[in-house]
Amino acid sequence: MNRLERPSHGLIFEGNTLEPVSLEHNMVGFCSRCDQDLESLAYHCTESKWLISAKCRNDHLVLMCYDRQWNWQSDCDLEIYTEKASISSIAGEKLQAVFTQAEIRDMIACQQGLPYTRQNLYRARAKYDKFEKLFGIRIDV
Ligand SMILES: [Zn+2]
Repeated sequence: MNRLERPSHGLIFEGNTLEPVSLEHNMVGFCSRCDQDLESLAYHCTESKWLISAKCRNDHLVLMCYDRQWNWQSDCDLEIYTEKASISSIAGEKLQAVFTQAEIRDMIACQQGLPYTRQNLYRARAKYDKFEKLFGIRIDV
């Protein structure tokens, strides 16, 4: 399985990690599973190929392979791997854009093994997807 890592957008392809050439979001075709538009997430290249990571609206992922003259070669599997981050490594302004003070306090307390209010953590966890969408960071508490 080929893997696009977030937030770095490195692509693990045939055992190598490739740095992104571009992170442009373009319409790059149609999803073979649901016919929705495919939007590019990142562009990578090797000596002989261009590789476009793309996603449709239904979150189907595909890695489109082209030769260096942009002749289509094949569609390959792709998965996204989001690195999990500890609360203390995330800038406060980012946290405050999504979470309340009480939620942030209790996420930190939970991570440090201190007493916390369960409801605040539940409320915070319900927003992890939103946070990941905004900042490409998966919180791990
Ligand atoms: Zn699809």
